[in-house]
Amino acid sequence: MIVLKNNDFIERNEATIDMEDRGHQFGDGVYEVVRVYDGEAFLLQDHLDRLQYSLNEVEINYDVNQQGLSQLLQQLIEKNKINDGGIYLQITRGVAPRNHPYPEDTQPVLFAYPLQLSRPLKAQAQGITTILQKDFRWLRCDIKSLNLLGNVMTKQKASNANAGEAIFYRDENHVTEGSSTNVFIVKDDKLYTHPADNLILNGITRRYIFHLANQLNIPYEEKVFSLTDLKEADEVFITSTSAEVTPVVEIEGQKIANGQPGPISKKLLDAFFEYKNVGQLT
Ligand code: PLP
Repeated sequence: MIVLKNNDFIERNEATIDMEDRGHQFGDGVYEVVRVYDGEAFLLQDHLDRLQYSLNEVEINYDVNQQGLSQLLQQLIEKNKINDGGIYLQITRGVAPRNHPYPEDTQPVLFAYPLQLSRPLKAQAQGITTILQKDFRWLRCDIKSLNLLGNVMTKQKASNANAGEAIFYRDENHVTEGSSTNVFIVKDDKLYTHPADNLILNGITRRYIFHLANQLNIPYEEKVFSLTDLKEADEVFITSTSAEVTPVVEIEGQKIANGQPGPISKKLLDAFFEYKNVGQLT
C-alpha cells in the first residue's frame, strides 16, 4: 500500500506517527472519507470544501488548494490502483510538547491512504435495524473532527444489539443523525432531515440526496423531527459515503411501516448511480 504523508508518497510500513502528534494526544485534527467508484473519487471537491471548513473552524493552518491536495489524492488513487474503494484522509495540527493551547509554528501532518470499501448491497436490499441513543456528543458536530469516541461507543452499542446503526436524539422532539450517518424520514411522499447546523455533520451524501430529490421531483425539507415522527414515518433511511442510501426497517424492535425497504428509498438508491457524474454539488 502506498500512503500519502504530507506531500510524499511512502510505503505503509514507513508511515509512522509521532508520540507527541496532537491528533494522537488530543484528537486535535480533522478527517474525510471519500468514495472511489470506477477509479474516480466521487464528489471529491465537496469533500475538500468540507475539509477546508473543518480546518478553518479549528484554525489548523492548511490550505487544501495551495497544497494541491486534489491532485495528490488523484495520484494516490492511481498509485494504489483503487478501482472500487475509498480514501481515508486526516490532518492533525502537528507535533508539539503536550500542552492544551494551539502551539505556534507547528506544521500540520497529513496522512491519506486507501480504504477497502464495497457497496452494502445486502443491507440495502433488506434494510437494517437500528437502536436509539441520547445524543451525548459535543455541540460542534458540524466539524468532522478526529474526536469520535462518542460515535465509537454508540456504534459499539448498536453492534452489541446486532443493529446496523444507532440514531441519536437530543430530546424526544429532536432526532439528529446516526453515529456515522445522516437520517432521513419520508412522510406523505416528502423527505425530511435535520437542518445543517452545529448538531449534525452536513453529509456530502445528504447533500447529494437533495440533488437527486430535485432531479426526481421529490419534495424535501430540512427540519427537526421527533422520535414519534421517526417511528411513525412511512420510510426511514440513512446516508453516508459508505452506506450510500440504506433503508432502516426497524427502530428499537419496532417496525417502520410494513418492515420492508420503502419505494422512495429504492428510487433514490436506483438514481444514486444514474446521476453520479454531477461533478460538484451546489
Ligand atoms: N454524520 C456523521 C456523524 C458521520 O460520521 C458521517 C460520515 O462519516 C455522516 C454523517 C455522513 O457524511 P458523508 O455523507 O459525508 O459521508
